[in-house]
Amino acid sequence: MNGKILEIQNLTVRFGGFTAINNLNFSLDKGELRVVIGPNGAGKTTFMDVITGKTKPTEGQVFFKGKNLRPYAEYEIARMGIGRKFQTPRVYQKLTPRENLELSCARKKNVWASLTAGSSTAERRIVVELLDTIGLATKADIPAELLSHGEKQRLEIGMLVAQSPDLLLVDEPVAGLTDEETEKVGNLLLELAESHSIMVIEHDMEFVRQIARQVTVLHQGSVLCEGNMDEVQNNPKVIEVYLGS
Ligand code: ADP
Repeated sequence: MNGKILEIQNLTVRFGGFTAINNLNFSLDKGELRVVIGPNGAGKTTFMDVITGKTKPTEGQVFFKGKNLRPYAEYEIARMGIGRKFQTPRVYQKLTPRENLELSCARKKNVWASLTAGSSTAERRIVVELLDTIGLATKADIPAELLSHGEKQRLEIGMLVAQSPDLLLVDEPVAGLTDEETEKVGNLLLELAESHSIMVIEHDMEFVRQIARQVTVLHQGSVLCEGNMDEVQNNPKVIEVYLGS
């Protein structure tokens, strides 16, 4: 599908009589970093839920790498190459960052084979590189429970990357972080964007300014506008519903 990793056509999601997503059209180019913003209740989480197969469309289609996802279950869609990072870090607290990353690498393989064989040399090398990328090389071997919230967020982003997804979905990665930690997560996403397709949901406008190239604004379950940060910020409709609020 000519360079599109994700294409969403006429998507509508209703919960009973309530329309959370309303005839939404969206596409993401391979290798693109896109930030999706919108006020509370705009439909951002539902949008992510549909892409990952957690919620099925009431109407419309989601194509990933040209394939219609409708027939597939959430776990099958994950295996097809869509990785999602939820807002709250879900790292194994008693394991070290290195072990967390090794486990994530192993998830790509047959679980039993990976448990019995342990990590291969190639995987161990990938983990060392990832520890460096996420800025945790010096904390590689302490229990993850001793990491700061920001470090855990970066670790979890690393765990996502370790599974080699074709598309990374990242949900509010800087909620509750200090300015310094926020900047580090932003730099990490920018670095990863050089070799990955990434979609980020975000509220924090400073952070959006740091990382955003293309922004999609959702409002009442539809795309209100799309463009670069300047275009979006100066759009009167956006000012009215979001930035002005
Ligand atoms: P956002 O992530 O932008 O804050 P959501 O996707 O969480 O928005 O929600 C969009 C709208 O859909 C909200 O009004 C929310 O209350 C409603 N909604 C979300 N999930 C459900 C559900 N399972 N049942 C009913 N309403 C829902």
